[in-house]
Amino acid sequence: MSSAPKLSPGVQKYVDAAKKILAQRDSALARMKAMKFDTLAVHGLYTVEEALERNQGAVIEPLYLSSSQAYADADELEAALAYLVPTWCYTRIANPTTYYLEWVLALLEGYRAGCDTSCLVTASGMSAIAAAVDPFLVDQKAGGPERKNFVSCIQVYGGTYQHFAVRKKKERGIDVRWVQHPYDIEDWKTKIDEDTRFLFMEMPSNPQQSFADVKALADLAHSWEVPLIVDATCATPALMRPIAHGADIVVHSLTKSITSGGLAIGGALISRKPITTKVVNDNPLFKESFAEYVKFLPYRDNGPAASPFNAMIALNDLRTLRSKMDLVSANCQKVAEHLQKNPKVYQVDYLGLPSFHLHGVAKKYMKLVDSDDGEGGEVNRYGHLMSFRVDGPPENARKVFDNFKMIYRATDLGRIKSVATIPAISTHQQQGEEARRLADVPPQLIRLCVGAEHPDDVIADLDQALRSL
Ligand SMILES: *Cc1c(COP(=O)(O)O)cnc(C)c1O
Repeated sequence: MSSAPKLSPGVQKYVDAAKKILAQRDSALARMKAMKFDTLAVHGLYTVEEALERNQGAVIEPLYLSSSQAYADADELEAALAYLVPTWCYTRIANPTTYYLEWVLALLEGYRAGCDTSCLVTASGMSAIAAAVDPFLVDQKAGGPERKNFVSCIQVYGGTYQHFAVRKKKERGIDVRWVQHPYDIEDWKTKIDEDTRFLFMEMPSNPQQSFADVKALADLAHSWEVPLIVDATCATPALMRPIAHGADIVVHSLTKSITSGGLAIGGALISRKPITTKVVNDNPLFKESFAEYVKFLPYRDNGPAASPFNAMIALNDLRTLRSKMDLVSANCQKVAEHLQKNPKVYQVDYLGLPSFHLHGVAKKYMKLVDSDDGEGGEVNRYGHLMSFRVDGPPENARKVFDNFKMIYRATDLGRIKSVATIPAISTHQQQGEEARRLADVPPQLIRLCVGAEHPDDVIADLDQALRSL
């Protein structure tokens, strides 16, 4: 950040003292970057020195619920508010517990990506999406609204659909161009022009499991000098890291698989350093470290701060992310294969099924990080979200749904417990029949997110529910 003019001479003492902390942080970062995914998930940047020197030796990152930070004197206050020393000031702006989580996510999403990353944690996945897209939609010249558009796959989370279709298009008049076949790069090409500000892709999408060739999409975006933003909530960095394939920004709903224990909501925005954009901004961080830019400016002014308590829950939950995603993905694969054999089910959509039309492209990208397939590659894992369509009228799907005994009926996913919903009457209710048809979300479709129970028990529950027909 640029420094405020004419700082008091006493400020320098604090700036010098901060150099030691910053040097420690840099060496911790260099050390951690050589480590494996699981190690990063367990430790992040919270080191032994951080514990002993600043946190009374706490082995686990402490929960800082305090709304604000106190300073020793006017000089330290001045240094802090000029962002000349590491500081957190006030929990709407930053917080130590949230900061530890931000570093874990930056490291995991940037794992072996060949570039640096930065991360901002927000109150929810939706606020992360809003924080990621808004800075690209500002008018670039004085004198009235400009032509601008963005291009997004139509198979997005229901909340994202509302945000784009209502908050952006209807209320602000921004041209949202929907891509119906995101796996077809030609479909994107026909929608982009010189007024396009960014491309948005959700993959795998919730609930349709839409998928695209992320590298080809990033190349296309960059050929227009615009960023590719990917919502990778359903994959988590354990199964896919879009930045490693060229994406500029990744957003997550931390509420889902990353916090599979289901006790907190949260969101995250992770950006590569630097991003590609032709939007002009007088702050160099905008391009160099987009997540930090958002954190220091719009996020501070808009206020979608995460609760430190929620950050703590997410941090603690994601330490075992890799092994959890391995387990629940394997369970989901088993359940999907089983449902495929049931005559009352006319379609099963799961990226892990060779019969699924996007299996080929997903196979290229969905791999369990740091796993070994015995041939020098990584094992394919496709996550725990699937859907199946029940034969007959919509009432049949409702009947099966109502007969689940162990599987929860909830508009939820990413849980350690198996959860199911009917998207047409829940997550995708608001968008109307026509948009549901375009997005391929018929009322016969039951979305199932398979948890960490023994898969035989999940299968037994599904079987008995399907027998009710
Ligand atoms: C749930 C979800 C969101 C929204 O996240 P919240 O934490 O509920 O705000 C965004 N994208 C995807 C893919 C989701 O599943």
